[in-house]
Amino acid sequence: MKRLLIIAVLLCLNACTAESKKASNTVVDIVKPKPYVLLISLDGFRWDYVDKYKPEFLSEFAKKSAHLTSLRPAFPTKTFPNHLSIITGSYPENHGIVANRFYAPDLKKSYNIKESNAVTNADFYLRKPLWVIAEEQDMRTASYFWPGSEAAITGIYPSHYKTYNHNATHHERIEGILNWYKLPSSERPQLITTYFHDIDSAGHHFGQDSAELIAAINKVDDTIREMVSKVRLLDFEVNIVIVSDHGMVDYPAKNYEYLPTWLNDEYKVVATNPIVLIYDEGKSKRTLAETVAELNQQANHYQCYQYQDIPTKFNASKTNRIGDITCLTDKDWSIGFTGKTSKGNHGWSQFNTKDMDGIFYATGPAFKESFQLATVENVNIMPLLAQILGVDITTPIDGKLEIMKPLLK
Ligand SMILES: [Zn+2]
Repeated sequence: MKRLLIIAVLLCLNACTAESKKASNTVVDIVKPKPYVLLISLDGFRWDYVDKYKPEFLSEFAKKSAHLTSLRPAFPTKTFPNHLSIITGSYPENHGIVANRFYAPDLKKSYNIKESNAVTNADFYLRKPLWVIAEEQDMRTASYFWPGSEAAITGIYPSHYKTYNHNATHHERIEGILNWYKLPSSERPQLITTYFHDIDSAGHHFGQDSAELIAAINKVDDTIREMVSKVRLLDFEVNIVIVSDHGMVDYPAKNYEYLPTWLNDEYKVVATNPIVLIYDEGKSKRTLAETVAELNQQANHYQCYQYQDIPTKFNASKTNRIGDITCLTDKDWSIGFTGKTSKGNHGWSQFNTKDMDGIFYATGPAFKESFQLATVENVNIMPLLAQILGVDITTPIDGKLEIMKPLLK
């Protein structure tokens, strides 16, 4: 009997220890603060603008941040392809948004960033943005503008999102984001994405050395200062990650090469300077190979490929959404039919120049302070943010966590 009692006491002791361990784990889980990420995109913010123009707040923010020498965009170095690359961790050939305007032969539909029917059509988006994966794992997310956020990709929107309004003031964006942060913890988005176009617009219209570009940088600098200081007053800590989708460069208007007009008669052509996407609609008597040869024979400053032959370094040869034939232009050159150019542009190769590179500056509890890594590709951002948020990546991506992990504490 005595022996039985001892056994019973021992069993009870084991069970009690297990129970109390479980209880203390639960306490730890409750006390452990939730991670938050605020991802801010400054469209067209060239990698060297902080050094060149020394905006007061961003200079200080960059210095204290975990950052990259520069952030390398994916090809083509355009806005929508790269915002999707940042948030899906995938190259455009895999996430499907291969240009700002393109034709999708698989859907028999055209995509255009200015057309609501297209940007809200989930069929165009072939990989899941981080907000979709987070929502699937029961995490709340929000977007105050981000390419793709207005489409129910695999049936899922961010918990909160806004229809893009180019004229929404900076103040509205700041207040909108703060209001989300003031929601009760269970509804509060742990991932928020937002976007500012001003610096890209000024770079295109007025160029690299313009007063207008400097004014746009300073305006955005003031906005980021206000947003960051208000976010830092909240009673929880937020990781703030500032990125850009691509760089910008001035180029001479005289560097313009016209495409032959027969091309427009025989093919569906999407001329999105400095790349041109050419789709076979069965109208031409030439084979695609003959057309490529004909174009390249008269080209001085561009080179055309059947899409499967686009050099592998561009990661763009998997889908003819980029055209059955794609023409790439030499740096600082334009091609098309109209002769129209702007003062600055992007879209050229991201290799052998830093002109197309953007920025990555991050601060917050997850990041080291004043720490720099070399240039890396933007597809590696998504797995880093997933790691911070504790989101399991349950879908194929091209980026790798190891590449940017050294930025983390
Ligand atoms: Zn852009």
